[in-house]
Amino acid sequence: MLVKSIRWRMQLWQAFLLVCILTGFGATAYKLHRSQRFGQIDEDLGRRVATLSEDVRSSFPLRPPPGPPPLEPEPGFDPGRRMEFGQGFGPPPRRPPEERGPRRPPENPFEPRDVQLSAESSSLFSSVEPDDFYYAIWSRSGVLLTRSTNAPPDLTLPDRADGDVRIRTRTRGVCREAYHFTELGECVLSGRSIRADLDAIQRLAGLLVLAGGAVLMLGLWGGWLLAGRALRPVEVIGAAASRISAGNLAERIDIAETDSELGRLARVLNSTFARLEASFATQQQFVADASHELRTPIAVLIAEAQATLVRPREAGEYRATLDTCLETAQRMRRLTEQLLQLARLDTGQEVFECHLCDLAETARTAVERVRPLASERGIAIECNLTRAEANADPERIGQVVVNLLSNAIRFNRQHGVIRVRSGAENGAAFLSVADTGIGIAEADFEHIFDRFYRGDSARTHASGGTGLGLAISRAIVAAHGGSIAVSSRAGEGSEFVVQLPTTNSP
Ligand code: ADP
Repeated sequence: MLVKSIRWRMQLWQAFLLVCILTGFGATAYKLHRSQRFGQIDEDLGRRVATLSEDVRSSFPLRPPPGPPPLEPEPGFDPGRRMEFGQGFGPPPRRPPEERGPRRPPENPFEPRDVQLSAESSSLFSSVEPDDFYYAIWSRSGVLLTRSTNAPPDLTLPDRADGDVRIRTRTRGVCREAYHFTELGECVLSGRSIRADLDAIQRLAGLLVLAGGAVLMLGLWGGWLLAGRALRPVEVIGAAASRISAGNLAERIDIAETDSELGRLARVLNSTFARLEASFATQQQFVADASHELRTPIAVLIAEAQATLVRPREAGEYRATLDTCLETAQRMRRLTEQLLQLARLDTGQEVFECHLCDLAETARTAVERVRPLASERGIAIECNLTRAEANADPERIGQVVVNLLSNAIRFNRQHGVIRVRSGAENGAAFLSVADTGIGIAEADFEHIFDRFYRGDSARTHASGGTGLGLAISRAIVAAHGGSIAVSSRAGEGSEFVVQLPTTNSP
C-alpha cells in the first residue's frame, strides 16, 4: 500500500539517491584526507631516510670502487698477514681451538661498523618520545648498527627487492616506516607511530557519517514536505473529479498554481469537464427533442384512431384515417432511422465503403431520384457536372446530395431553379447545390446544422422535415474528412458546397 503511494515512491527514490551521493562524497573525502595525511607522513619519513643515507655514506668514506662487487674473503683470511715464501698454496696450518678464541662473523673490509649521525640528522631525531620519529640502520649483512632509543623493540630489517634503491614505505602495526637500501646494501629506516593520525582519520570518518546522516535526514524531510506540496493539487483534482462523477457537472477544479504541470493538467481537465457538460447538455436536449418528435406522430396516431372509432364510419372515412396513420407511421420510421444513423455516426459505428468514385456520377444519380418531386413543383434542375474524384462511399454521399436537393426543392419558390455543379479545386473534389428559394434567415444561419433545428420559414412552410437532415449530412461529410459550407441571401436563395479530399479515407 505504502509503496503504491506516489509520495512514498518519490521518497524512497530520493532516499536511495541521497544515500548514494552522500556515501560517494563521504568515501571520496575520507580517502582524500587519508592519502593526504599518509602522503605527508611519508614525505617527512622520506626526508629523514635521505638524510640518514647521506650520514651512512659520509661515515664510511671507504667505499668500494665502482665495478663488480668485491669478492667475499675466505673464512680465516687475515688481510694484515703477509704471505710468506713457500706459503700460500694450501690452507694455513690450523691452530688448536683454545688459541683460536670465540667464533666471529666474517668481516668485510668495506662493511661499516659505526655510523656518525650528522647535526641535521640529530636534530631530526632529537625527540625520544615513543610516538615521535625513530630510526635504525643495518649493515649490508643485516647487522643492526644503530637505532634511536625510541625505536620499537620489535623492529625488523625490511625485505629488499633485488637492486631496489628507492625509498619505500610500509605500515607495521601502528607504525609507518620509510626505508632505503643504499647501493651497497646498508639499510636505513625511519619511522613513527601513526596512532594519533589513525585516531584523527577515524574521528573524521565518524564526523562524515554524522554529517551525512544529518544531511540525509534533512533531505528526506525537505523532500517529504516538497512531495506533499507538489501532490496536493492531485488531491484537489481527485476531489473535484469525484464530485463531478457524483453528478455535479458544473463543478470545476480550483487552480491555485497555474504555471506548474499540475496547474496545466487542471486547466486541461477543466476544459474537458466543460466540454463534457456541454455534450451532456446536448445529449439531454437531443433525447428530449427525439422524444418530443416521436410523441407528436404517436399523438396523431392515437387521436386519429380514437376519433374514427368513436362511431361506425363509411369505408372511405376508414381509408382516410388509415392513410393518415400510414403517413404518420412512415414519418416515425424516417425519424427513428435518422436517429439511429446519428447514433451510429456519433459512436463511429456507421459503416462506410469507400473507394475512388466520381462525385459527378453520384450527383447525377441523386438528381434523377428527386427530379419527379422537383417537376411536381415546377422546379428546374440544371446540372454542370465535371469529373470530381474523391475517396468516398458513393451511397452515403448520395444520401447527402439527395438531402441537399430535397431541401432545395422544399425551400425553393414555385418554378424556381436548382443548379448542381461538381468539379475539382485545390486538390479537393467539390459538389454544390444552389437554389433560388427563400434563403436562410440570419437568426437561423448559425443553427441549421443543429439537431432538430428547423427555421421559422420551415415551420411556416410546413415542410414536414425532421430537422435532422443537415446534421446527418454534416456528420457523414466529416466522417469522410471533408466539410460542408453554406452561403445564403434571404429571399434570393442558398448554396451548399460539399468538399471532399481525394485520398483520405474516413
Ligand atoms: P429539415 O428536415 O427541417 O429540412 P434540415 O436539417 O435538412 O432539416 O434543415 C434544417 C433547417 O435548415 C431547415 O428547417 C431550414 O430552415 C434550413 N434549410 C435547409 N436547407 C435550406 C435551403 N435550401 N433553403 C433555406 N433553408 C434551408
